[in-house]
Amino acid sequence: MRSITLGQSNISVTPVGLGVLTIGGTQLDLPLEEGARIVRYAYDRGIRFFDTAQYYETYLYMREAFRGLDMSKGNPDRPVIASKCLDESYEAMEKAIGECLEALDLDYVDIFKLHEVRHDPDWENRAGAWQCLLDYKAKGIIGAVGVSTHHIDVVRRLADVPECDIIFPLINYAGLGIREGAGPGRAEDMADAIRLCLARGKGVYAMKAFGGGNLSGNYRKALDYVREIGVHSIMVGMGSTEEIDRLCEYAEGTLPAEYVPDISKKRIHIDQGDCEGCGACIDRCPNKAIFRNDQGLADVDHQICLTCGYCAPVCPVRAIIMW
Ligand code: SF4
Ligand code: SF4
Repeated sequence: MRSITLGQSNISVTPVGLGVLTIGGTQLDLPLEEGARIVRYAYDRGIRFFDTAQYYETYLYMREAFRGLDMSKGNPDRPVIASKCLDESYEAMEKAIGECLEALDLDYVDIFKLHEVRHDPDWENRAGAWQCLLDYKAKGIIGAVGVSTHHIDVVRRLADVPECDIIFPLINYAGLGIREGAGPGRAEDMADAIRLCLARGKGVYAMKAFGGGNLSGNYRKALDYVREIGVHSIMVGMGSTEEIDRLCEYAEGTLPAEYVPDISKKRIHIDQGDCEGCGACIDRCPNKAIFRNDQGLADVDHQICLTCGYCAPVCPVRAIIMW
């Protein structure tokens, strides 16, 4: 698979990457051996870009998957690894970087980011964690620093932050999960903000092209929309070798034009870490399949859910996913 440089970062990645979140405890919760097999399959199939996070608890899968590979910084065949941390303080970020290096048995990690920066004043609140990333980049322990976000206003703002090398924004043609300020945002506006960052030399790779699985039925349309914005890579969460094969074929230009994935076995899930309990999905579900659980968060009754997908677009934080 061809490689492409992430903006001005000197880091080369493949045009598609594996989002390792899917195999971990918050989603498929695969046994270690099985999850590692999926990650290694992606590597052997040609993917060289892997995104994870402290919060996903997936480092052990990756360590197992990459066992035996030369992970030294100069090896051109080394998988590019990106991780991120939700915390605000310098100390917590330092701990997260150390945890990543130790768990993956590395002395260098390609990309480390602030995880899910929200609207103001979240960027200001993360000043300590950001300074830590800059210091570790200066020491040569991190190759590039950046931010993951669902927020258009954050993406726009980062265009003017020269130290920010990498942006990992949420974008899909339906606008699922895109935020602006404290409300929902539009896909067109996020696309414009991404283009601004690309014009300023940022490395940009996209998340949620399939809107958390809800747009998978329009496979090619979903990927084409994001690719045509000009992002350097598209990160996709995948839990099977078949999904990896199809994505690689898409990237290599060999995917049959008529390809439509079988989504008949997929189910709707509500990420309990993301749900804010607003109740919009409960009101929207025509089948009364969503209820409020003991924690006050939304949950799905799979006995009556018809997987119509009507609930996903109303969720302001993209907590409703299909897998
Ligand atoms: S997919 Fe449809 S039936 Fe299932 S919870 Fe969502 S809106 Fe209700
Ligand atoms: S719409 Fe989203 S945030 Fe609101 S209750 Fe449903 S899943 Fe939770």
